[in-house]
Amino acid sequence: MQPGLSFPMKILVLNSGSSSQKSALFELGPDSGDDPVPPLWEGKLEWSGDKEDLHIRNRSGQEIRHQSKAGVHRASVGTMLENLWSGSTAVLKSASGIAVAGHRIVHGGRKLTLSVRITPEVKREIENVAAIAPLHNQAGLEGNELIEKLLPNIPQIAVFDTGFHRTLPPEAFVYPLPYAWYERGIRRYGFHGINHEYCAHRTAQLLKRDLSSLKIITCHLGNGCSLAAIEAGKSIDTTMGFTPLEGLMMGTRSGSVDPGILIHILRGDPRDPRRNPRDAALIENVDHMLNHESGLLGISGASSDMREVLDAMRVGNERAQLAFDIFVYRLQAGIGAMAASLGGLDALVFTAGIGENSPEVRKAACSKFSFLGVQLDDARNSSAKPDAEISSTGSRVRVLVIRAQEDWAIAKECERLSDAASL
Ligand code: AMP
Repeated sequence: MQPGLSFPMKILVLNSGSSSQKSALFELGPDSGDDPVPPLWEGKLEWSGDKEDLHIRNRSGQEIRHQSKAGVHRASVGTMLENLWSGSTAVLKSASGIAVAGHRIVHGGRKLTLSVRITPEVKREIENVAAIAPLHNQAGLEGNELIEKLLPNIPQIAVFDTGFHRTLPPEAFVYPLPYAWYERGIRRYGFHGINHEYCAHRTAQLLKRDLSSLKIITCHLGNGCSLAAIEAGKSIDTTMGFTPLEGLMMGTRSGSVDPGILIHILRGDPRDPRRNPRDAALIENVDHMLNHESGLLGISGASSDMREVLDAMRVGNERAQLAFDIFVYRLQAGIGAMAASLGGLDALVFTAGIGENSPEVRKAACSKFSFLGVQLDDARNSSAKPDAEISSTGSRVRVLVIRAQEDWAIAKECERLSDAASL
C-alpha cells in the first residue's frame, strides 16, 4: 500500500453521467466485509435545461436541497464537493481526509478492462476510446481533472462499465459485419458491468452458494436497460453492444431495431429536392431520435418514466399500454436469449430503478418462464424491499431483487487495489 494510505480509508467515488454527477464518500477498512454499507456522505447534481438541482445528505441525516440556474458543470461539482468539509453536511475536517478517489468510466475500449490507477498513460488510453465512443468518457475525465486540482496527491482509480464483459466469447462480441470493421474496434462491448458484476456476487452471497456454481441472468432496468448472462461469475453474454443503444427498450432509447430503418431515414425522402443523404444535421437528428425520443417515451407519448407510463396505463391510455407491452416483450425475448447462452438458469435478478421498484414489470417478465422453472411468489413480489427473494419456496430458479450499488462496488475496487499494494 502506498505510504499515507491507512485503514479505515475514506474513499470518494465520482459517478459522472451526461446529465448528472453523483458522488459518495465511503469509509472502508480491512473488516468492512462484503455487505454494502451506506456512504458517510452523498451528493447528486442533476442538470435539466438551464436548471441544476443539488441534493446532499450525510449519514447523520443533515440534508441540503437547492435548485439554481445551471452554471459551468465542473464549477458546480467543485462547489458540491466542498460540502464534504464545510457547512452543515460536512463529515471531514478538510479535503486531505480523502485517501483515494474512484471514478466510473463508461468505456474502457479494448485495452482497459480491469480497474486501474489513473496515470498519464491510462488517461491517454481513456481519451483514445473517443475514436470509437466520442460521447462516453468526457464526464469521467472531467471528474478526474477536478480531483487532480483539488487533491493533487491522492491516487485516483478508474473502474470501467465495459470491463466486466471482457470475458464474452467472440461469437457474442463480433458482429456479422465486414471483418475489417471489427478490426477498427466495432464490436460488442456491453455496459452496466459494474452493477452486473456486483449483483452476481451479491446473488451468491444471498443464496449462500458458491458463485462458481451459478448461472445467473441480471436484469438492470433503469433509465438505461441491459441484461447479462453470467456463468461462474463471468459475463458470457449481454444485450448492450458497441454503444448503450442496443438491446432492450429503454426510457428514451430504442434498443435494437432493424438497421435498415436507419438507412431508409438517412437516404431521406427522394421527393425532397433539398435531399442530401450526407447531411450532418440529418445524422444528428437520427441519433437524437434513437437516443432521446424513442423507448417508453417515443411509444407512449406520455413519459420516459415507467411510473408515469404505469399511471397512464391504469387510466386506459392505450399507447402507454403498448409501451409497457413492448418493454416486457423485449425483456422476455432478452431473458430467453440469455438463458439459451447459459444453457440453464439458477437465478434471475432484477435491479436498478424499474427492476427494484416495479412488481408489475417483474411479474410480467417472469410470466413466460414457468417452463424454465421460474415461480414467482406474488405476495413477496408485491412487498419486496431489496435485497429480497421473490420466488416461491419450491421455485427451481431463484428470483431476487437487488439494489444497484455501483458506488459501493467502485469503493470496494479502490480498497482492493490499495490492499494489493497496486497504488
Ligand atoms: P435508474 O436509472 O436506475 O435511476 O432508474 C430510473 C427509472 O426507474 C425511472 O425512469 C423510472 O422509470 C423507474 N422507477 C423508479 N421508481 C419506480 C417505481 N416505483 N415503479 C416503476 N418504475 C420506477
